[in-house]
Amino acid sequence: MVKVNENYLKLEKNYLFINIAKKVNAYKEANPDADIIRMGIGDVTLPICKAAVDAMKKGADEMGVKETFKGYEDSGAGYDFLREAVSNYYKSFGADVPADDIRINDGAKADCGNIVDIFGDDNTILITDPAYPVYVDSNRMSGRNVIFADSNEENGFAAMPDDNVKADIIYLCSPNNPTGSAYTKDQLKAWVDHANKNGSVIIYDAAYEAFITEDDIPKSIYLIDGAKTCAIEMCSLSKTAGFTGMRCGYTVVPEELTAKASDGTVVSLKQLWNRREGSKFNGVSYPVQCAAAAVFTPEGQEQIKVNISYYQQNAKTIAAALDELGIKYTGGKNSPYIWLKCPNGMGSWEFFDLLLEKANVVGTPGAGFGKNGEGWFRLTSFGDKDRTKEAMERLKKILK
Ligand code: PLP
Repeated sequence: MVKVNENYLKLEKNYLFINIAKKVNAYKEANPDADIIRMGIGDVTLPICKAAVDAMKKGADEMGVKETFKGYEDSGAGYDFLREAVSNYYKSFGADVPADDIRINDGAKADCGNIVDIFGDDNTILITDPAYPVYVDSNRMSGRNVIFADSNEENGFAAMPDDNVKADIIYLCSPNNPTGSAYTKDQLKAWVDHANKNGSVIIYDAAYEAFITEDDIPKSIYLIDGAKTCAIEMCSLSKTAGFTGMRCGYTVVPEELTAKASDGTVVSLKQLWNRREGSKFNGVSYPVQCAAAAVFTPEGQEQIKVNISYYQQNAKTIAAALDELGIKYTGGKNSPYIWLKCPNGMGSWEFFDLLLEKANVVGTPGAGFGKNGEGWFRLTSFGDKDRTKEAMERLKKILK
């Protein structure tokens, strides 16, 4: 008789955003006229830029012509033109990442989960709490021991390494989802040194690097000395260029990154990752890769910056309202997320209900991201400018 993976039975029954959607739908059913403003799920609202649309159309046209039609991509790692474009993008801010260490994927979420395939199930996993839920779930699905590093009000939601706590795999996300906090170069160097000293691997999620505005915040872990011997980096065009519905991102496993097998043999993690992908992934569609490459052209970069600034302006609108209300928050500066302390000592879900019912505004309860998220709440700046302003007026009205 079939046996199920019982690790799944120990997970939260639903993914966080499904629980939120259920609550919002129930409210909407009971209050069909409610004008709900959604600032919960981290999805973008602006369309993809013209350079990417034009390149995608051209790519689609090529698929309809015998001479330029493309079937399976040889390696599934991404076309050279895109891997080179990503490598040059890294170069533009001073990081040396060869195209051969980059694999193109259909978004960072899948690889955040897939990467664990190349590591043994007996590894201990350290995850900063609160965290993007995929890190915890994908490791619990394979029954791994997950421990947490506290990101909290005291450390500005930037957990730092503790020499007494040793883990084999460490997940870091900067700029962070959900807290919007971002590691400085010195803070990240401390993590890199800690990982190299202990033979740990850092899985670094840089999905929000495009939102960094401050010079001291690195856009990639590879700007830190020593990172290539301890870190895998994941990035995505979802928030950078509005690709949530297009699906394209990239993962870097450096040539220099190795681990030891139980018999002492030195193993290349890049080779394992290529092996895993060779068997389980057939690459991203050609027109989407054409669109992604266009994002990295000067024209594309200029166009996506316009959209990113739009969201950054929304973040300022949210921050100004919170300042006016005297509510503490992190994020907004190097991140599209604003992470606020629920007023009057309210719990996250309590504040969620209040905001939904009294202001018809939907946010994300911090408790859904881990224990340190309790009492905190995430708002996103990915909405419409006027609706964001309206939401903040409603917030001020109910909290003043
Ligand atoms: N990493 C973080 C921290 C995210 O917040 C998200 C999406 O919200 C992703 C990865 C996944 O992005 P995608 O799969 O759309 O590339």
